[in-house]
Amino acid sequence: MTPFEKARAAHLPEIIRGLGYKLTPQSGGYGSAFCPKCGQGSETSNKVSLFSSAGAWRWKCFSCGCPASSSIDWVVAALEVTAKEAVAFINNGEASPALKDRVASMPDAVAPMSVGDKDTQYEAFAELLAKVIPGLGCEVAVEYLEGRGIPESLTREAHKRKLVYSTSNDPNEAMQYLVAKAGESLMRNAGCIKPGSNWPCIAFRPILFPQWKTGCEFRMTKNPRKGESKSIRQGRLHTPWFWTGEVARRIILVAEGAVDGLSVIRMGWKGHVIALPGAAAWSDDWFPRLSVKYPGFELFVALDNDDAGTGNTRKILDGCERHGIRARQFSPDGFKDWNDALRAGVSL
Ligand SMILES: [Zn+2]
Repeated sequence: MTPFEKARAAHLPEIIRGLGYKLTPQSGGYGSAFCPKCGQGSETSNKVSLFSSAGAWRWKCFSCGCPASSSIDWVVAALEVTAKEAVAFINNGEASPALKDRVASMPDAVAPMSVGDKDTQYEAFAELLAKVIPGLGCEVAVEYLEGRGIPESLTREAHKRKLVYSTSNDPNEAMQYLVAKAGESLMRNAGCIKPGSNWPCIAFRPILFPQWKTGCEFRMTKNPRKGESKSIRQGRLHTPWFWTGEVARRIILVAEGAVDGLSVIRMGWKGHVIALPGAAAWSDDWFPRLSVKYPGFELFVALDNDDAGTGNTRKILDGCERHGIRARQFSPDGFKDWNDALRAGVSL
């Protein structure tokens, strides 16, 4: 193996953490707020994605659009060194005195940070999802959604697309299933069973709307009692619930919750659909990702017709303007939400 090949195969996340940058585990890799090309993003941004591909770590930036690049490229850009210097730095931690000086004076060069408690919990939740979801059907979801005007065929199609699952309407049965698949200690580590409690909230919410492989919205089929929430969200919301529509339409609708997402599809919407688990659940990280992944697309911001929906619509529209994304407000005229509009017989 040549020194270049060795450096290219190095564990990039370790190098980056070693230089003092925080990484956030996400869907098989890591996210980072720091891009060696366009600099430090906001604390919560994960504009740079690190992922392993064909045995080598790669990174790309959704903010400046830097395409997938090697570990060597990361070090070259971050430390402003030649490729040869980067290879020596990666392989042996060897650095010329000038390079050592540069590393020491980097504004963000601090002691490597450990992965926080939250990250550990998110990792446990992703592991739990991976254990719980295989084997789940969608019968309870079919029945519940039919009562909300979503036909069985659409729910089954969503299930085929890994966008909806259900456990049992009986909390005891749901609990048994969860314990058998994931085990109690993983449920505790994932934050599904709160300290001092023996029951996971998710056992009472049998409908699952996964958010990629890292998060999930759990929904009740009964009316919530006082103080209960109909839906809870757990895990890391790194990628939202996303229904792929006809690409040629170049339109993406943002709805509040997967039930509204399925409602607009039932009503005849042909483009893509993003469903947020709550009006405020939009992540500003998605603006650069949208503009890179869906250039020229128009965003239809279709949140609920209430104060939270209207306020968050404004925020999303402002963000679109800053990122040069075409967007318009598309709330259901005369209805609280899209499911109400569907059940009143409105079509798109
Ligand atoms: Zn960048």
